[in-house]
Amino acid sequence: MKNKIDYKNSSGLKIFLHYYKPHMKLFCLDIFSALMVTAIDLAFPYVSRQAMLKLIPEKNFTAFFTVMLICVAAYIAKGFFYYIVTRWGHEFGVRVESDMRRDVFAHMQTLSFSYYDVNRTGKLMSCVVTDLNEISELAHHGPENVILSIVTISGAVAIMFTIDARLATVMLILIPLLAILIMTRRRQMRIANVEVKAQTAEINAAIESSISGMRTAKAFANEESEIDKFADANRQLVAAKGESYKQMAIFHGFSETGTTIMQVFVVMFGGFLIMQDRLDFLDLVTFTLYVSTFTSPVRRLTMFMDQYLSGSAGFGRFLELMRTEPAIKDSPDAEDIEDVKGNISFENVSFHYGNDVEVLKNINLEIKAGENFAFVGASGSGKTTICHLIPRFYDVIAGSIRVDGEDVRSITQKSLRDNIGIVQQDVFMFADTIMENIRYGRPDASDLEVIAAAKYAEIHDDIMAMPSGYETFTGERGVMLSGGQKQRVSIARVFLKNPQIVILDEATSALDSVTEAHIQLAFDKLCEGRTAIIIAHRLSTVRKCDRIAVLDDGRIVEIGSHEELMVLDGEYARLIHAQELISNNEEQNIKTF
Ligand code: ADP
Repeated sequence: MKNKIDYKNSSGLKIFLHYYKPHMKLFCLDIFSALMVTAIDLAFPYVSRQAMLKLIPEKNFTAFFTVMLICVAAYIAKGFFYYIVTRWGHEFGVRVESDMRRDVFAHMQTLSFSYYDVNRTGKLMSCVVTDLNEISELAHHGPENVILSIVTISGAVAIMFTIDARLATVMLILIPLLAILIMTRRRQMRIANVEVKAQTAEINAAIESSISGMRTAKAFANEESEIDKFADANRQLVAAKGESYKQMAIFHGFSETGTTIMQVFVVMFGGFLIMQDRLDFLDLVTFTLYVSTFTSPVRRLTMFMDQYLSGSAGFGRFLELMRTEPAIKDSPDAEDIEDVKGNISFENVSFHYGNDVEVLKNINLEIKAGENFAFVGASGSGKTTICHLIPRFYDVIAGSIRVDGEDVRSITQKSLRDNIGIVQQDVFMFADTIMENIRYGRPDASDLEVIAAAKYAEIHDDIMAMPSGYETFTGERGVMLSGGQKQRVSIARVFLKNPQIVILDEATSALDSVTEAHIQLAFDKLCEGRTAIIIAHRLSTVRKCDRIAVLDDGRIVEIGSHEELMVLDGEYARLIHAQELISNNEEQNIKTF
């Protein structure tokens, strides 16, 4: 990654400016063009005053028309500079935003499971999309607005003082009054805008939840109540927008009135001075021209305050995210693990999810290379947790886990995870073809390798029966595949990856017996010659395992082969008998039908 700034120890401003650096040329072009626009705006009243004062009375046609032509040329140039500000100023903002988005996205990839356990997708999405957009607005409009307003106001005031100090003093008193007036109205407008944003977020959340829950809504025939709920959110957004437009109308009304009244004051005071022969008629005309140049910088300044508030709040959230350290980091002297055999040992391992409720209590266990090892136990006993500790998705609280004798904390995460394949219960499918979904197991695999893996995983025939074979789209989250097919795609990914250690989380959902047989076959092939750890939900599948550990409330209470545990006649035997009883009852029910 190109980005080198230390987010933890650098100030917010330094980090903000760091993003300006790569695009400094564009930024300078933007500011220069904006300054040119202001200079031309400021010069026109002064130049026309000089022309009226000197050239018109002298009837100097050539000079007068030359000056006027120069003014036309200047205004054409202004149009060109205006184009640059709008086109390239925004481009600068977009590039800053894109760099920030690149960094925040890369940083999010480094954060651990524990972070995503507690932070909601919606919040993170809004940081990457909305917050960065507001920061980008501040990044280019902020300096533009501040520099331009200050230059315009001070330039105009300075020129006014050279024309007539008394009128200029009146202006100096009136400008802050106008600024206060605009500021208070703008505050009301901001409050209304915040409400619009909140209601928009509400409606987006409603749409998102409704679309992702569409199948459930249909299953419960709840479409009507979904429409009612949505109508509510829709009405509230209309009300919020109505209020916001009302405030916007008042704001524009006030600022228009403020400026025109200022002009009336200038004419009134100037007229009074003219009638007393204390002011030139032309000076008054020039003055009124300058008064109209004030509205835009005063508005710009108040706009900057808004941009500053929302941009800095967004930047605060961006910093908070960038300053979040991944809970799991490679230690500085971490080394790659090579030629993994697959021995795994747990030594006095205890674990909790950060809430002091111990989920695993003093686990001691040796799993030999090539062994097929199953965990059984009630739901919530800690089977999944134990398996998540091996690839270091979480760190142990006490004790240690070793792979081939190396503490997992002394191995680089990448090399550790490269050697572990996981088949999860809930298989995530990307909205892509089935070919690409399998290739996810090893992105550089060839099509032939993908097909070979699919054959091993017993999914090839299913794929060939699909309308476009391997090019079939799986739909968002794989909606077009059955649960059993998704599991086999996941197994195919692991075949492609070909790791020495595999972790298999069996599906809990009921599968038909043909699918189950296919999956079992695929599982068996996958386990061959590797260290396999199986989280078993159906006891029928664990009989073949070399050893089985029974977990109860985070402790291993029994360990041994199926036969050994049956002889022991303890917890495992009790679970087997309970399950036999259930399946006997089911058979009985089927017979009585
Ligand atoms: P099993 O796989 O045996 O059903 P788990 O390992 O999933 O059990 O869960 C063990 C315990 O840890 C449960 O009490 C569960 O509520 C808790 N738990 C699991 N995952 C998390 C998590 N991400 N954050 C907090 N608690 C969790």
